[in-house]
Amino acid sequence: MDSCIFCKIIKKEIPATIIYEDDKFIAFNDINPIDNIHFLIVPKLHIINLITAEVEKIDFNIFGEMLKLAAVLAKEQGLEGFRTMINSGKKGGQEVFHIHFHVYGGSNHLKKI
Ligand code: AMP
Ligand code: ZN
Repeated sequence: MDSCIFCKIIKKEIPATIIYEDDKFIAFNDINPIDNIHFLIVPKLHIINLITAEVEKIDFNIFGEMLKLAAVLAKEQGLEGFRTMINSGKKGGQEVFHIHFHVYGGSNHLKKI
């Protein structure tokens, strides 16, 4: 999608600190981290979020693959524990409308939610 910032990162039209890439996914550091380590796992397919009609068309197996990738990359980044988060929709805190997993951790003062 032309105006999508994450599609631009995927197409290398704008820079990012990429920590992983294959034919289906890209992972890069969040530009505004909320923890010592904070990266995003993004499918290369432009899926908006989990509340739009297109969700009907998604192969949900990709989310299993993304979670596995979260585990592998968190370990590579030296995290002994981490959180994952998907924000869906403006009222769900989503700012970039290309679905992504946040993976973050590293600090010792986590707020329980
Ligand atoms: P969300 O609120 O779930 O849509 O999260 C979007 C995330 O993308 C935020 O944590 C932003 O800091 C991050 N972000 C926005 N633009 C960039 C960028 N160019 N490179 C890396 N991360 C970004
Ligand atoms: Zn996109």
